[in-house]
Amino acid sequence: MSNATHSFDALMEITSRPPTVFVRGEGSLLWDDSGKRYLDFIQGWAVNCLGHSPPAIADALAAQAKLLLTPSPAFYNGPSLALAKALTDQSCFDQVFFANSGAEANEGAIKLARKYGALHRNGAYEIITFEGGFHGRTLATMSASGKKAFEPLFEPKVPGFPKARLNDLDSVKRLITEKTVGVMLEPIQGEAGVWPATDEFLQALRALTEAHGLLLIFDEIQTGMGRTGKLFHYEHAGIEPDIMTLGKGIGGGVPLAALLATDKASCFAHGDQGGTFNGNPLMCAAGLAVLAEVSKPEFLKSAIDAGLFLESELQRISARHGLGEVRGRGLLLALDLKHPIGASVVAQALADGILLNSPQPDALRFMPALNVSREEISQMIDGLDAILTRMGAARRVA
Ligand SMILES: *Cc1c(COP(=O)(O)O)cnc(C)c1O
Repeated sequence: MSNATHSFDALMEITSRPPTVFVRGEGSLLWDDSGKRYLDFIQGWAVNCLGHSPPAIADALAAQAKLLLTPSPAFYNGPSLALAKALTDQSCFDQVFFANSGAEANEGAIKLARKYGALHRNGAYEIITFEGGFHGRTLATMSASGKKAFEPLFEPKVPGFPKARLNDLDSVKRLITEKTVGVMLEPIQGEAGVWPATDEFLQALRALTEAHGLLLIFDEIQTGMGRTGKLFHYEHAGIEPDIMTLGKGIGGGVPLAALLATDKASCFAHGDQGGTFNGNPLMCAAGLAVLAEVSKPEFLKSAIDAGLFLESELQRISARHGLGEVRGRGLLLALDLKHPIGASVVAQALADGILLNSPQPDALRFMPALNVSREEISQMIDGLDAILTRMGAARRVA
């Protein structure tokens, strides 16, 4: 496959991609190599929390690149120490291990829980996870995921991940045995189509895991870093997990992820965990720039306002076109389309210069930059409204 200037054949075909090549981004806007402009409500899959190529990140990377790229993970470096300190100061956790991707951070969380089981729970190793959950694409994180499409792939899977149902405490209780060491979940299931765990469920899960001496592990790779209106989603429920993973937004567009643990759960010994690029100063410098911005109270306040505006505009569109509910929190929202028209809406939006995502055939997911403006939200809504009007007209004619 190719377009006017590029051949695409040398890249492995791991997903279906439009024949578009992006060359530049700024805030909520992207440009392709033909000069066409797009309004981006995907942002690298909830990654670019400050928008495309924000000066704060570009400057931090340029300054750090001139100083030190990496000294080796067997030595300390300033940015990783500063970022670990800042993350622990602003969360309920005491220690951090930096990784390069969300899946790698989750692998670390799984290993940490198994280590805890070996040390404190007679070798218990099972981690209860959830139907519909998504934790990454390494073998263990695919095994921990509850994504139906993963089930037949790459057998045999890593054992030890019995699946419960979200917001169903009895389904968790039934799976607890002497082999159980923890419970791991996304507080909002993102890939599955933005299905939130209720605050009450999260509170009950905390009480249940505490009563059984189990670790509670939050995968906040999508929900963390202000995405849902708090710096970390667990704050909404007023509880404290034992382990949390961050990814996506923490690097604001560069590969950075983190595994955080309380003193109780942080039990790695020398040799248990590591990695060549983990905690390298270049990516940690970007992480510091992101955290400095996102943790400002006025930044979170305006992200919350933007989320409420987007939610009410989506509700208006839904009522106008007879669609379903709007789900989610902050700037992680989904619109239930009630019909399997997601792929078609996304394709038409791309043609119209709007980037949207359909994680499930009957839903759209919205994950714009956290500093998206009201005007940009209104532009996207107008574009979506026009597409739905055209499709409604087409359906009535058909
Ligand atoms: C994206 C995501 C991951 C995987 O992160 P990668 O950086 O793609 O490995 C894991 N968990 C959740 C909740 C995610 O949204």
